[in-house]
This record gives sequence, structure tokens and C-alpha cells, in this order.
Amino acid sequence: MMNRLLLSLRLQTLRQKVFVYLGLLGAIGGLLLAWMWSGSLEGRLGSTASLSILEQLGLVFGVMAWVASAAWGVHRLVLRPIGLLKDFTGSALLHEGAEGALVARSDEFGEVARAVVGALKETSESNEQLRTLAMTDSLTGLGNRNHFKKRLSQALESGDENSHRVALVVLNLDNFKGINDMLGHEMGDELLRLVGQELKANSRKTDTVARLSADEFALIVDPVERVETVVALAQRILEALSCPRTIGRTEIHPGVSIGITVFPHDGRDAETLMKNADLALYRAKAEGRGNIQLFRHELQLRAIERNAIERDLRIALQKEQFELYYQPKVDMKTGMVRGAEALLRWNHPERGLVPPDMFIPIAEQNGLIVEISRWVIREACQQNRTWQDEGLPKISVAVNVSALDLRRRDLSDLIANTLIQSRLSPQFLEIEVTESMVMHDVEAVIGTLRRLRSLGVGIGIDDFGTGYSSLAYLKRFPVKCLKIDRSFIRDMTSDLDGQAIPRLVIDLARSLGVKVVAEGVETRLHLDLLRAMGCDEAQGYYFGRPMPADEFAVFLVRAKGGLIPDVKPSPLLENDDPILLEKPSVA
Ligand code: C2E
Ligand code: MG
Ligand code: MG
Repeated sequence: MMNRLLLSLRLQTLRQKVFVYLGLLGAIGGLLLAWMWSGSLEGRLGSTASLSILEQLGLVFGVMAWVASAAWGVHRLVLRPIGLLKDFTGSALLHEGAEGALVARSDEFGEVARAVVGALKETSESNEQLRTLAMTDSLTGLGNRNHFKKRLSQALESGDENSHRVALVVLNLDNFKGINDMLGHEMGDELLRLVGQELKANSRKTDTVARLSADEFALIVDPVERVETVVALAQRILEALSCPRTIGRTEIHPGVSIGITVFPHDGRDAETLMKNADLALYRAKAEGRGNIQLFRHELQLRAIERNAIERDLRIALQKEQFELYYQPKVDMKTGMVRGAEALLRWNHPERGLVPPDMFIPIAEQNGLIVEISRWVIREACQQNRTWQDEGLPKISVAVNVSALDLRRRDLSDLIANTLIQSRLSPQFLEIEVTESMVMHDVEAVIGTLRRLRSLGVGIGIDDFGTGYSSLAYLKRFPVKCLKIDRSFIRDMTSDLDGQAIPRLVIDLARSLGVKVVAEGVETRLHLDLLRAMGCDEAQGYYFGRPMPADEFAVFLVRAKGGLIPDVKPSPLLENDDPILLEKPSVA
């Protein structure tokens, strides 16, 4: 306001100055005329009458030229800058922050221009303050419903453009009315502030936290990579707000119910999403409060399940809930057990035996797999050594490692140390890596695999045929065997062209000089077809399912006579590796 006043004062002063200049000019002109007519001119020039018509005309034109140049001067010095100033003011009002060269002038006009800019800044600042006030909840300092609506539509727009998900989490305090009635509004307000702080503390910078009404809050999670992360966030908030709190001198147990909805699955516009989030929230309340509900039920079940698994997985190692099962690999020519694959199982106290597909992807995502793999490698080596010490036939045990393990530079050191500690010779350990793992970041993986191979450890490519192997790379990998994925073995008897891929892989393995193992051999027909194709080893339910270590020991003893009825085992082949045409190890 001050600046506006200053601006009008300055303009007034400027106008007055213009009049003063014009007045002065008029006075000078008047004096000049009076001087001319008073005769002093006559004295200097003689009589005007004595002036020739030409001289009189010259005098008139001279005076006119003088007046014109004075007018031009006034225009240049006063009127034009005023015009500029007018334009400048107009444009500055239209476009905030438009500052022209006038601002840099050191004269009155510069001063006025600077005042204009100052006034505009002041106005825009106060406008901003007003806008912020209109968007803020005064009690908690969070955004209010207006802010929330604006941010939600922005988030949905960007979600639409960039094809990412946005989650809407709505929360309602359980029994807020009761707390308010019992403890008074001040305490109630304090609790609301506390909820706001907790929500802020648990959200990321890109998320939006708002208070929508008395005890209803909302969180826009943007962007969302996995719905499980949103559920985990809601879980954290729920836990934080379920703890007893001391407000004033009273301990209260707030409790909160939460509803979640996800764009674009549950709705594409703000209104639908809000409606669905509210529905989820009502369901949470109906379920007995202190509860989280996703709008989509099956999504919810999966997400909650996943979270529970992730939480339990963190303690599974300490509580020794993991166990290795062993599945035999049988030599097709002799029927002898040549090796075993160690397959991880989780003995969950409530869920029972959990298969690896249910928890390994989660462990890979949160990095726990590194610790798990360390345990698997140690356990498999120690077990194999124990069997050898017990005088059982010597076999090679294969362990599966994940992509994350393979990217660790210390994997070969870890394996070397484990072999030393368990006193197991490296030829009795194999590492299985999947095709997609090795085709990613090939150069680094080749380095790791070569170090492992130089230790004497075998390397098998698992689930072969499901990824996109480059044959050029395959030649460079120091692999000992290719394992045909079990889906191809299943298709051998159900599909007309089903035998093409196993045959192709077997031929490829032959030409690369590596062994080939068929996974998922379930029937005698599978076995016969694969033997006819020249497959080296088979693994599958036909011979034996994965079994605990003690059962496997018994199985090994029983299998001494061979597992293929019409094939007589050759004792000569029992512990060597006749099929293996492997390349020499590369350092
Ligand atoms: P994989 O390495 O390809 O293991 C073979 C899977 O095929 C095993 O499933 C095995 O039980 C199953 N299988 C074997 N023969 C047959 C058969 O005749 N019919 C059918 N239908 N299935 C058969 P499992 O034990 O559930 O393991 C699944 C996957 O989990 C494994 O696939 C492997 O990728 C992963 N995994 C298992 N243990 C570990 C581990 O210790 N570490 C890592 N990183 N992954 C593991
Ligand atoms: Mg495997
Ligand atoms: Mg496999």
C-alpha cells in the first residue's frame, strides 16, 4: 500500500515539474516577445519596418523553429519518458516481475519505475500469503481440503502423463468425539496436531498431507512404485498412532482407521478415488477399527500378505527357520545319482513350509537375499561334507544364487572361504544362475563366474530357454551345464512341436561342450524321450521330490543300485564326470 501511495505522489510531482518546465518555457517565450516589441530589438536591428520582408519572414521562422525545438525537447525529455513509464507500469501490472530498462535509470523515471516494481512485489507477496492462508489448515499447519484437491488433480495429471500410480490414503481417528467430549477441545486440538506431525514424519517430500475435516486426514502418495510400500507406510502410521500418548497429564489411546485407493486401478478421477478411499475407510471401521483396508480386496490381500512375509523374513534367519531340501539329479546313462540341487524352504511358525517362490522375490527386493544366500551356501557345503564323512556316495550339490549375489564382487571370496571352512573340495559344489541374470551386465558377471570357475566350482545356467541368451555371450561363459527349464519338458508330451526346444538345447550344449540337465522330469515318457535325444542328466519328481537332508541321505543309500530300472549302473562311472567336456578353467 505504501508503495502505491509513493507511486501516485511521484507521478503527481512529476506532473507538477512538467507544468513548471512548461511555464518557464512560456515565460521565456513571453519575455522574448516583449523584448522584441519593446524596441530593444528595433535598437539592435534598426526598425522592424526597415527589415526586409525576407528578414521578417526569417525572424518569424526562427521563432517558430525555436518553439518547435522547445516542444521537441519537452517531448523528448518529459512526455516520452512519461509515455514509457505508462507502458512500463501497464506491462508490469500485467506480467509480474517485468522490469525494463527504466528501473536502471537514475532520474525520476527510474525512481518511479522502481516504486512500481516494489509495489507489485509487495502485492504479489501479500497475494501469496493470502493464497497460502486459503490453502492451510490453521490448527495443524497442514494443507486443507482446497490444497488437497489441487494437489490431487496435479498428481493425477502427472500420473496420467508419466504412467505411474498414485495412492490416496485417508485416515480417520477412532473415537475422536469421545476424546473431545471427555478431555475438552484443547486436548482434542492437541491430538489433531499430533496426528498431523506423525503423518508429516512418515511421508516423503513428494507426498501431500492434508487435514480434510475435523478428524479426517489424507495423504497423497505420489508416485507409487509398489502398492505394498503404501500398505507398509499405512501400517507404520497405524502403529505410531495406536501407541498410548500423553496429552497434558492424561494418557490417551488414539487409534486410527485407514482406507487406501490407487490410481488408475481404482479410479481415474479425483472424485471416484475419494469415494473409493472413503468406502475402504468405512470398511476399515466396520472391521473393528484400528484397521487398514484397500479399496480392492484381492490387491489388499496380496499386499498385506507380502508385508507380513517381509516382516517375518527379517527374523527367519536368526530364528533358524530356514531349511535346505535336496532333490536328486540322475545320470541318464547309468541311473546313478550324480548330484543334488539344494532348494530353500522356510519353516514358518504359523504358515508351515513356505516355498521359495513366495519369499525369494521379496528377499531379493529388500536385499535380505544376500544374507540368506550366505547361509544357503554354508549349509549346503557343510551338509555335503557331512554326507561324505558318513561314507555316502560323493555327489555335487548345486545352490541357487540370485542376481544380487552375482553382482557382489566378494561372492567368489565368500565361496572360497566357505569351502575351506567346510573342508569340501570345490568340485562338489555347483552354482546355479538363471539365464536372465547372466545376460544382464554381462562383463561383470563373466568376471565373477570366471573367478568361481577358477576355484573349481561348477556353474550351471538354470531355467535355460526362458530368457534371451545371446549365443555369442554363452560361448564366453565358463559354464559346466545348461538346465532345460521344466516348462519345455512338460510341453514335450503335450505339444506337437514340444520336442523341438529340448532337442535344440541338447544339441547346443553338445556343440558348446557342456553338460545338459533336464528339469521337471515327471514321467517315464519324459525320461525315454530325453535319453533318446542324448540328454545327460535328469531332475524331477520321477526320481524324487526335494527332501530334507536326512531323508536324502537314506535316498542316496537306496539309490546305489541305480534309479532307472532297465539300466545297470556302471561302478566305473559312479564318481567321475564322463559326459563333461568342459573347457579348462579360466583365471
Ligand atoms: P529352480 O532352481 O529352477 O528349481 C527347480 C524347481 O523345480 C524347484 O522348485 C523344484 O521343486 C521344482 N521341480 C523339480 N522337479 C519338478 C517336477 O518334476 N515337477 C515340478 N512341477 N516341479 C519340479 P522350488 O523348490 O519351489 O524352487 C523354485 C525356485 O526357487 C527355484 O527354481 C529357484 O529359482 C528358487 N530357489 C530355490 N531355492 C533357492 C535358494 O536357495 N536361493 C535362491 N536364490 N533361489 C532359490
Ligand atoms: Mg535351480
Ligand atoms: Mg530351474
